Amino acid sequence: MQTLTVKCKLVLSKEQREALDTTMRAFAAACNDAIAVGRRLNTTSNIRIHRVCYSDLRARHGLTANLAVRAIARAASILKIKERRNSTVRPTSIDYDARIFSFREADWTVSLSTVQGRIRVPIAVGAYQKRLLSSRKPTSAVVWKTRQGDYYIGIHINVETPPPEDEHGWIGVDLGIASIATLSDGTVFSGDQIERVRARYERTRRSLQRKGTRGAKRVLKRLSGRERRFQQSINHTISRRIVDRAAAEGKGVRLEDLSGIRKRVRARNKSQRRRIHRWAFHDLRTKIAYKCALAGVPFELIDPRYTSQRCPVCGHVEKANRKSQSEFVCRLCGLEANADVVGAINIALGGVVNRPEVALASVLTVLHGQNRNGSKSSYKPMTSVVGS
Ligand SMILES: [Zn+2]
Repeated sequence: MQTLTVKCKLVLSKEQREALDTTMRAFAAACNDAIAVGRRLNTTSNIRIHRVCYSDLRARHGLTANLAVRAIARAASILKIKERRNSTVRPTSIDYDARIFSFREADWTVSLSTVQGRIRVPIAVGAYQKRLLSSRKPTSAVVWKTRQGDYYIGIHINVETPPPEDEHGWIGVDLGIASIATLSDGTVFSGDQIERVRARYERTRRSLQRKGTRGAKRVLKRLSGRERRFQQSINHTISRRIVDRAAAEGKGVRLEDLSGIRKRVRARNKSQRRRIHRWAFHDLRTKIAYKCALAGVPFELIDPRYTSQRCPVCGHVEKANRKSQSEFVCRLCGLEANADVVGAINIALGGVVNRPEVALASVLTVLHGQNRNGSKSSYKPMTSVVGS
């Protein structure tokens, strides 16, 4: 099961907009009070903060019971992140749960609790949102306001996807920079084109930054929007092809959990570039998840530990197995292969689980396939290790 957020624009009357604005201010003020309480008590516990300030928050900010509960929950989750402990919540969003939010499919509206009572608001839905929301009973959501003054609701839905037919039934996807995505069947989506375009944007950006004029800043902003849209369209194509293939073959899609990807990018990239890469990974991963959900294709995130160091044939884990960014050579059984493909196969196998007997068949198929295409990979097993 996975949770997706379906984003819809709220179609508000003037009074409703004012009610939401007032509620956002009260909600943010309550969050900030609760954060202050947590800091004073030196706790990140939802329950402890609740005990100390729940009735106080309701009285002071005029919140309904569950809006106060959500504000405390938001505060606790912020306190748990070290970098955010000292931040303040701005009055631009509200969290909703089942008691204070509901969705009605009959007329595509949502009901939201505000400090001025319940409001029923139409949501703008296209075919895409309709397919995701149809015949569901979502129980939580978040409402936010953009800088341009538009209001959106992100409705959380839980999507059940069936398990694939057997344990060979996964396509593993390894995300990277030189190759944007490498699949466990040996398919590589090259990042060359993207990197070339990025380099061009980067050069322009630097010369504009040197200028530093107001006009230059405006161009910079437009540039970053254009770069993002370019990346999004590439990600759209890649995710489409991965999910179509999985659907056609009756397989599921497995990816590494994002935290692992972040760590790897951090090691090699600096500030601006790092941010763009991180955003691009996140965007691609989200697009794959959504397309899987719509196509009924199983989707899983797996623990990324050792996916780059583990030999998928004999199960041996050693840092030195990964000779370079692109080369994998197992120190135990001698398997030689493209490092990204090895990573993708490990992801397809579910990360840390050690099942060499399953791995062998798929690795041989992939690597032999690669050899036919004239790539460098070869397989030289030492039978004593592989044999069961
Ligand atoms: Zn090995």
